[in-house]
Amino acid sequence: MRLVRYNGGRIGLVKGTDVFDVSAVVGAGEGDWPSVEMNRLIRNFTTLRPQLENLAATAMPIPLASVKLETPVPWPNKLMAYPVNYHDHATEMKSTGFANVQGYFLKASSSLCGAGDQVVLPKLVNREIHHECELAVVIGKECRNISVDNALDHVFGYACLMDMTIRGKEERVFRKSYDTFTPVGPWIVTADEVGDPTQLDMKLWINGELRQHANTRDLIVGIREMIALASTASTLYPGDLIATGTPAGVGPMVAGDIVTIEIEKVGRMSLPVVQGDIGSNFVFDRTVKESA
Ligand code: MN
Repeated sequence: MRLVRYNGGRIGLVKGTDVFDVSAVVGAGEGDWPSVEMNRLIRNFTTLRPQLENLAATAMPIPLASVKLETPVPWPNKLMAYPVNYHDHATEMKSTGFANVQGYFLKASSSLCGAGDQVVLPKLVNREIHHECELAVVIGKECRNISVDNALDHVFGYACLMDMTIRGKEERVFRKSYDTFTPVGPWIVTADEVGDPTQLDMKLWINGELRQHANTRDLIVGIREMIALASTASTLYPGDLIATGTPAGVGPMVAGDIVTIEIEKVGRMSLPVVQGDIGSNFVFDRTVKESA
């Protein structure tokens, strides 16, 4: 099943090139704040699945191309991310801060955006803002201290994720948490449709030019291990997101670019990159320009 959020928090099932509105099952799209209807849908999915399928079977098809796709889970309890998690990216960044020696870090959930949004570059001087091509794991069940062997039982689904990053030496959370710095989408594909997540090809293009190409089999800390590791420290909740780390090929984006991500069995989305007119501050106004 492919689940989208669209047009102001409505929830739909995607079949082919159409969306079928199933908002009524969880009361989505009513303007409630915070918008946690997808979290509830994920938590109660086993019970709700027949209702979702029945409603979708009788709903009017809406062309996918006619709706504005929003980030699928706008209010996760946690947006977790693993740092350097492919050897080739470690080499290009001259980094030894691998995921297996650092564990996870957090990004602000307010950095999330969706397939129908734009990536807005903050107005910074002499700073590169890089794209990172990653798979998002969407947690399906509340859990703590789970084993590697059972980890995938706690996954609801997967999505494409881009971890946008200001290069520099400042606090990583600050450099990665600007609004629109975490596009997720275009939808969540449920785990049963993806099958084995450890053999997924992933690609990222800038203006049609391939910049990143890797496979989840090359992860340093694997998907099961990332989930289990996070759960040693933190209770994981339905809708929590894990960004699984980027392979080599990261590089700067500039206004006017179109950034496209595609992950096998998951989906594809393209976002325009535009220049914003806010975002500068005394931290980034310092002239340091080093990799991190
Ligand atoms: Mn990353």
